[in-house]
Amino acid sequence: MTLYQNTLEFAQAADLKDPLRSFRDAFYLPQTPNGGPTVYLCGNSLGLQPKQTEQFLKEELDSWRALGVDGHTEGTHPWLPYHEFLTQQMAEIVGAKDHEVVVMNGLTANLHLMMVSFYRPTDKRFKVVIEKDAFPSDRYAVESQLRFHGYDPKEALIQWAPPNGEELCNFADLEDLMTAQGHQVALVLLGNTNYYTGQAYPIDRITNLGHQHGALVGFDLAHGVGNIMPELHKNGPDFAVWCTYKYLNSGPGSLGGVFVHERHAQDKTLPRFTGWWGHNKTTRFNMRHDFDPIPGAEGWQLSNPPILSMAAIRASLDLFHQASMTRLRAKSIKLTGYLEYLIDDLSSDKIRVITPRNPLERGCQLSLQIKDSNKLLHDALTERGVVCDWREPDVIRVAPTPMYNSFEDVFQFVEHLKEVVA
Ligand SMILES: *Cc1c(COP(=O)(O)O)cnc(C)c1O
Repeated sequence: MTLYQNTLEFAQAADLKDPLRSFRDAFYLPQTPNGGPTVYLCGNSLGLQPKQTEQFLKEELDSWRALGVDGHTEGTHPWLPYHEFLTQQMAEIVGAKDHEVVVMNGLTANLHLMMVSFYRPTDKRFKVVIEKDAFPSDRYAVESQLRFHGYDPKEALIQWAPPNGEELCNFADLEDLMTAQGHQVALVLLGNTNYYTGQAYPIDRITNLGHQHGALVGFDLAHGVGNIMPELHKNGPDFAVWCTYKYLNSGPGSLGGVFVHERHAQDKTLPRFTGWWGHNKTTRFNMRHDFDPIPGAEGWQLSNPPILSMAAIRASLDLFHQASMTRLRAKSIKLTGYLEYLIDDLSSDKIRVITPRNPLERGCQLSLQIKDSNKLLHDALTERGVVCDWREPDVIRVAPTPMYNSFEDVFQFVEHLKEVVA
């Protein structure tokens, strides 16, 4: 028995029943050369532009034009506290308290700032656990931190690897690894969901495991934010970082987000790299005082932030607030389930779904291994107006996002895939 059918009529009927269908119209869909909309399944790489982003940017350009420096304190959204206008809605998305979240910097910069505070190696405890297939920037950041503290990554970097010949990581292997080496582990730092396989790790269990062994735990939610519901406060990792240009649709290279768990909010003894924007707001402009961190995540800020980028984030967060993560996630499970069903229905021995089959162990993305294929297959899909991404040697990543993708998009994608694989 299945809820799904492999027909265009079914896909269109599912779209009509979708309570979030109107959000598609809130975005610009890139067009094919022939003028139709592309089948855009690349929101895991760069989310689409909300139509209202221009208006949010324009408001700040207008303030700047009309008010000059006074825009810091006047205008509809004064720039001095501007980052605060993003906090509540960002906290909703990651399941955090407001004071646990701040938007600032780029993702990798934030990862370094968090490691300055939460990777504090000692002679006995100096190792960091990452995924074997960690995103390159995360790996570079961790390795450079290890070297900075005088450790050789060959000794101090532990990789949680999938069993031989497989792609997905097992929690039991992480438990074994921590049983063997946990007493030497200072930090467990994992992506969630994995950018390559789409596997989402259990944040609560990993956090408990790390803490039981005396390690601190952080997550990189670049592929998780706006996709899964990480429930950061409840699940309790020490910190998390993410970017806003993938599922959060805030524009290329836009600012990142940071979560610091409440348990660290008041700790002024934590080592950190500091700047004036993290300083007590009431005395920030006296410019004379010793550094006095704002309690909570805001205390990690360095600079006064780029307002135009933040305006784009506000535009996007507004849509997430309207749609709500609970509804988005519910739709996402159906939409990706439909993609999985259609691929299974092809019964092609050339196509293998790498991503976990359990919807709770993945977000919206499916990673498909196409046997005996090469980049020409991806080129052929591009030719047909499908936007998805290709990872050497033979994987395409397909991410139907619940915010703007439709069941018909998913149906059309699989029709194209069927033809180019044949
Ligand atoms: C996209 C992504 C990044 C990108 O880092 P930036 O600092 O924003 O350029 C880093 N890590 C992961 C896991 C990502 O998916």
